[in-house]
Amino acid sequence: MMKKPETMSQKESLLGRSVSQILELLQPLGEPEYRARQIYKWIHHHNVDHFQEMSNIPKSLRSILSDHFQLKTLQLAQKTEALDRTEKYLWKLADHRMVESVLIPESRRNTICISSQVGCSLGCQFCATGTMGFLRNLTPGEIVEQVLQVKKLSRHTLTNVVFMGMGEPLINYQRTIQASQILGDPEGAAIATKKITISTSGVVPKIYQYTDEAHHYGLAISLHAPEQKLREKIMPIAMKFPLDELMESVRYYMRAKKRNRVTFEYVLLSGINDSPAEARQLISLLSPFRCKLNLIPCNQNNLGFHPPAAEHLDKFIKTLLNAPFAITVRKNRGEDITAACGQLAVEVQEKAIFMK
Ligand code: SF4
Repeated sequence: MMKKPETMSQKESLLGRSVSQILELLQPLGEPEYRARQIYKWIHHHNVDHFQEMSNIPKSLRSILSDHFQLKTLQLAQKTEALDRTEKYLWKLADHRMVESVLIPESRRNTICISSQVGCSLGCQFCATGTMGFLRNLTPGEIVEQVLQVKKLSRHTLTNVVFMGMGEPLINYQRTIQASQILGDPEGAAIATKKITISTSGVVPKIYQYTDEAHHYGLAISLHAPEQKLREKIMPIAMKFPLDELMESVRYYMRAKKRNRVTFEYVLLSGINDSPAEARQLISLLSPFRCKLNLIPCNQNNLGFHPPAAEHLDKFIKTLLNAPFAITVRKNRGEDITAACGQLAVEVQEKAIFMK
């Protein structure tokens, strides 16, 4: 018989667990595999909040489950909506740490940007999360739950998921992959796998591992500088994994994924990486790749970085016009609600520290 935990807080969550992991937990009860599959589907596909809603599970088992386990563990601490309809969700985790998710509604898709870690060890100079340092990895359940909760709380229908919130997903590799498997599973959260994108700042060995394991999620590279010296200056990870090694790993990924293209993200920082010279360097760096370059003028923040002035942005884009790859320019989203990477969670945690 299962041993009952002494307090509620000791209950483990079933959210974010695979069918076989749920089956393993049910082993003392002698439940068959199909029962674990039903429970998995209720949690991740039907997105229930309580075991009692699982109508095809016997009542006695539902009671045992709610005595021993829990489902959702993220508490909504704050939801804000910007003038451009961007929605920002701040979550309080069971250990009282904070993470955030951002929903970006557009005309043809609604993308949720989710977090994979609390804080981040990589310290990119322009990133609010980087100033927090690394606090801990999120579990697969905490990653998947951001999507499940926003599915219920937002008036927009989610179509795309991108791991571009707090943290570096490829450092939290196994949990990121397990969460993606549940998100992309038709019996799970049922997001199309090609609409799930894992965005990395360039953890080279994990890009090789990801390629060798033949996952079908999209891959985006946070590039932010077209040459090594500048990249090192704004992204310390470039000292460990230099730009040429990063591009070699992307080449390896592209060769293995014949039909795919890769996305490069480039945050534009005024006076740092937004001159026509950098645009020309980008053309020679990226031309050999089937790729898309996504330009993101940085949000106004208190880290000393500014978005390029309109005429600089214009010049930068004009220099890129002859590039043989697609270019998109992301509008600044949610500036009135501090919706850039990790900004809100950092503000709230700083306030909390200040109040102690
Ligand atoms: S940009 Fe991403 S990788 Fe860099 S510090 Fe921020 S969260 Fe970490």
